[in-house]
Amino acid sequence: MVSRVIPVEVFDLVIFGGTGDLARRKILPGLYRRFLAGQLPEGARIIGAARADFDDAGYRQFVNDAICEFVKSSRHDKAHIDEFLSRIKYLPVDALGDAGWQGLASLMRPNVIRAFYFSVAPRLFGPLAERLHDHGIADAESRIVVEKPFGRDLKSAKALNAVLAESFDEHQIYRIDHYLGKETVQNLMAVRFGNMLFEPLWNSQYVDHIQITVAESVGVGGRGSYYDKSGAIRDMVQNHLMQLLCLIAMEPPSEFEPDAVRDEKLKVIRALDAPDQQDIVRGQYRSGEDTPSYRDDAENDESTTESFIAMKLGISNWRWKGTPIYLRTGKRLRERTSEIAVVFKDPPHSIFGEQEGRRGNVLVIRLQPNEGMNLRVTIKEPGPGGMRLIEVPLDMSFAEALADGDDIPDAYERLIMDVMRGNQTLFMRGDEVEAAWAWTDPIIQAWEDARKKPVEYDPGGSGPDDSLMLLHRDGRRWREIKA
Ligand code: NAD
Repeated sequence: MVSRVIPVEVFDLVIFGGTGDLARRKILPGLYRRFLAGQLPEGARIIGAARADFDDAGYRQFVNDAICEFVKSSRHDKAHIDEFLSRIKYLPVDALGDAGWQGLASLMRPNVIRAFYFSVAPRLFGPLAERLHDHGIADAESRIVVEKPFGRDLKSAKALNAVLAESFDEHQIYRIDHYLGKETVQNLMAVRFGNMLFEPLWNSQYVDHIQITVAESVGVGGRGSYYDKSGAIRDMVQNHLMQLLCLIAMEPPSEFEPDAVRDEKLKVIRALDAPDQQDIVRGQYRSGEDTPSYRDDAENDESTTESFIAMKLGISNWRWKGTPIYLRTGKRLRERTSEIAVVFKDPPHSIFGEQEGRRGNVLVIRLQPNEGMNLRVTIKEPGPGGMRLIEVPLDMSFAEALADGDDIPDAYERLIMDVMRGNQTLFMRGDEVEAAWAWTDPIIQAWEDARKKPVEYDPGGSGPDDSLMLLHRDGRRWREIKA
């Protein structure tokens, strides 16, 4: 197999919030794995910048510990770790003050790519952009990577876009949604647009409905008070599920180029119908035998924030009119699993007669765990005794399919390297984010106006019964939540 890895030029990557949870668990271990894969060019540097008073040696120890904790032990070769650490530097910088900025300015080198990862609280995104600009640290080719959440409604997202636009051009802004970095999500585009097999069937004539499920088994735990201000719709639907929906529903772009892809995604968001409140189910988990309730986790006895949401959506365009899309996401469900299921219609006429319990074709795209795809097809049950039909999966697990049995790169690894390559395809454009909020805001407003409370559901199951009814009343069923 010929490697098509696109080389990366020498860079300085500054991680604001380099001592935070995300940097420790995802960004730094991911960079180490890319280093092991030979993708960090000679001379590339990673500079941690945060409030803590580390020196280079202290931060290297921090990075070393992060690698030991979050990269599998077979990769802990000391010589490699030491070589990686030799590229790491640290500088205390205050995003809201003057401390550290002169030092950062003098640390940056000319003629290398400069990237700045904003892995800090959203209220610091604007101040960081301003200071990078005012201190002349960013040049016309510099890139900023902006974490989620990108606003909490249309107004705040617009304001944030406007602040960033004062210092950076849109082609320099990488709004991250790590769902887009997942192998399966990109494979979704490869499967749709690289084969003739699916695309002719990919419309309301052949697709009965689509289900998108992102289930988590954990509660909101340690981040309860933060979560309580956002809820499932802001935390998951407006960004991650919306992005998945776009990739499933978009028209083929004319080329696999950032703006061509993002134009098509934007058209999907704009074609989304405003859902009827009857088509939305909001839930909050109860306490279990040994698990606290949502309200306990959120430390808010009066909370009306949803930890679960299920919705039925329609897309008003020629391709999808009449095919409902069902979304659901929630905490404290049976398993941690994310998948998209494209459920095809039954054949118009069965030449084999009616058969009990027969189900149609389903293409399942699994995001986690075990990234892969699975197509359920009908075959004849082997053996004599008439024509009995059964369904069997045509299964493709990416981990098994990879020739060298290597790990699938983590979403963050891929996305960070795309930043270095200057490829924005898997990042959200400003107008996309605004369109997603413009669709979300009235939904939230409607239930706030109606003072609608979420219904309670038991932990460890599949959410409120009302969510089952959402499909049941249409003669459909959710797929089981199982890993
Ligand atoms: P964190 O609280 O663990 O870390 C915050 C970092 O910001 C620390 O390094 C801290 O030193 C730094 N910081 C705080 N105030 C500062 C200031 N005035 N100047 C400079 N640095 C300052 O946060 P986190 O969990 O790592 O999250 C970072 C960002 O990533 C947030 O926007 C969050 O929403 C997003 N995010 C995090 C996760 C996750 O799993 N942790 C997942 C998705 C998105």
